[in-house]
Amino acid sequence: MLNKPRILVVEDESAIADTIVYVLANDGFAPEWCATAEAAIAAFGRQRPDLAILDVGLPDLNGFQLFKSLQALPGGGEVPMLFLTARSDEIDRVVGLELGADDYVGKPFSPRELLARVRAILRRSGRNPSSSAPVLPFELDEEKHRIRYYGNVLELSRYEYGILRLLLQKPGRVFTREELLAQVWDDASDSFDRTVDAHIKTLRAKLKAVAPDVDPIRTLRGTGYALQDGLPPRPGS
Ligand code: CA
Repeated sequence: MLNKPRILVVEDESAIADTIVYVLANDGFAPEWCATAEAAIAAFGRQRPDLAILDVGLPDLNGFQLFKSLQALPGGGEVPMLFLTARSDEIDRVVGLELGADDYVGKPFSPRELLARVRAILRRSGRNPSSSAPVLPFELDEEKHRIRYYGNVLELSRYEYGILRLLLQKPGRVFTREELLAQVWDDASDSFDRTVDAHIKTLRAKLKAVAPDVDPIRTLRGTGYALQDGLPPRPGS
């Protein structure tokens, strides 16, 4: 049997930590709980985990400072990290993602949702050899600036193409509106967050015309967008 993926859980509220540790252990992971940033840095230094779940509100350092400290440790940059944030706090989500976190889960969260995110991140980072790579219904032809979706060539505007191409590069990863603006638009300073929303809307309509029952773009309210991983290889399947 393969080694269980090690998950570092940094959360100061023991009731929440107990739930996380329980569902992870139940699902075949090896969780290690730390209640403070200091303990987490020590544990991380002893043995690098396969993934770290960081609460933003910790008693000593905040989760963002902890993220930076862990990333500075040997090999720390290779460990995927996910933030737990208060659901109401959009700023925290954006800051976390812009620091380079892999995802976030808003509190209160369902254990099922957290497990799904953990599995998706591990699959993406190639650390979970037992699960196969996601089958995506998209085919990107960079030379021709063309994207096929379920075999159909999409008629995309320049920015729709740019957005979809970027999302396709890391299925499941959340891109903030600011990142999309900076990476897809020539002059991001002339554009606004709602420009991104408007292009996502027209892009979605074109995707829906091909596969009405599939919504491949996930919206993170107030934050940004991601391509769903685990899309059906055929519409309706
Ligand atoms: Ca907390």
